[in-house]
Amino acid sequence: MRATFLYAAGDVRVEDVPDSSLTHPTDALVRITASCICGSDLWPYASKPDDGPVRMGHEFIGIVEDTGPEVSTVEPGDLVVAPFAISDNTCEFCREGLHTSCVHDQAGFWDGLPDEGGQAEAVRVPLADGTLVKLPVAADSALMPSLLTLSDVFGTGYHAAVAGGVNERTSVTVIGDGAVGLLAVLSASRLGAERIILMGRHPARTDLGRQFGATDVVSARGEEGIEAVRELSGGHGTHVVIEAVGAMPAYQQAVGAVRPGGVISRVGVPQYEDAPIGFGSLFGPNVRLAGGPAPVRAYIEELMPAILDGSIEPGKVFDTTTDLDGVPGGYRDMADRNSLKVLIIP
Ligand SMILES: [Zn+2]
Repeated sequence: MRATFLYAAGDVRVEDVPDSSLTHPTDALVRITASCICGSDLWPYASKPDDGPVRMGHEFIGIVEDTGPEVSTVEPGDLVVAPFAISDNTCEFCREGLHTSCVHDQAGFWDGLPDEGGQAEAVRVPLADGTLVKLPVAADSALMPSLLTLSDVFGTGYHAAVAGGVNERTSVTVIGDGAVGLLAVLSASRLGAERIILMGRHPARTDLGRQFGATDVVSARGEEGIEAVRELSGGHGTHVVIEAVGAMPAYQQAVGAVRPGGVISRVGVPQYEDAPIGFGSLFGPNVRLAGGPAPVRAYIEELMPAILDGSIEPGKVFDTTTDLDGVPGGYRDMADRNSLKVLIIP
């Protein structure tokens, strides 16, 4: 079978590998029918040291081909979606909806499995009963792009809004016009926020953000961007700021744009360990810091019905489709911001 490797910064290759196969009695073998490139894949794509190739991809939908003897919730022929974290869905953290902190020894993220990945023809899925969710449609359904967003970007945008406490009484700023930022806008809108300010500079993306529910767009960054958000929100900033980038300037923008007593909710993978939290940033104005890797498994059943009935279309974040041969070019196009998000049909 074929699979995607990142060798070094900017060096993505699709190569033949031994077929994935069942290892544990709780595994499922899934033939991938739809996958994609994530904004978070662009961090290692930009900076990975040249220390050997790693498998890539953590968002996919596929058809179960085989299951271990202890798998009971899916069977061969089922169409399934996998979240970007592997979990048992039964431990104390999973029961609290925090599947990214699952304590099972096989739980974790796909990059913890050196011989598996979602940008490939097939994949071994550990803890299949906990990880996989059946989809009640056929693999060629027109809903596929939207259902694929349940594996990461929609659940992550939704987590950002939930962790920030978005409701009909809150105003919201979303920093970042990538797929997660845009789906955070959609999520904030579904949770009832009336004022949603999207900070982004790419008109095609911010236009989609308006379709998803953004009421205002601020293209300025830094102090100028903060000033614009404050002007739009009565001078004090918004109750919730969703930071969907992960870079330090985005965090600083969040600190500037949040209202006293408000919440900064981060879902962009932070590319820093140290950040201002003292009197002049968070403590003085009673600002809370929330967020983390989204336990998207907890949200799949909740978010799926609105996709199935057509009332929302989060799959609009995909603006490019390719096969596996086109994956290296897809990384390049996303890194150059020529593509918002690339759908892969292996
Ligand atoms: Zn668990």
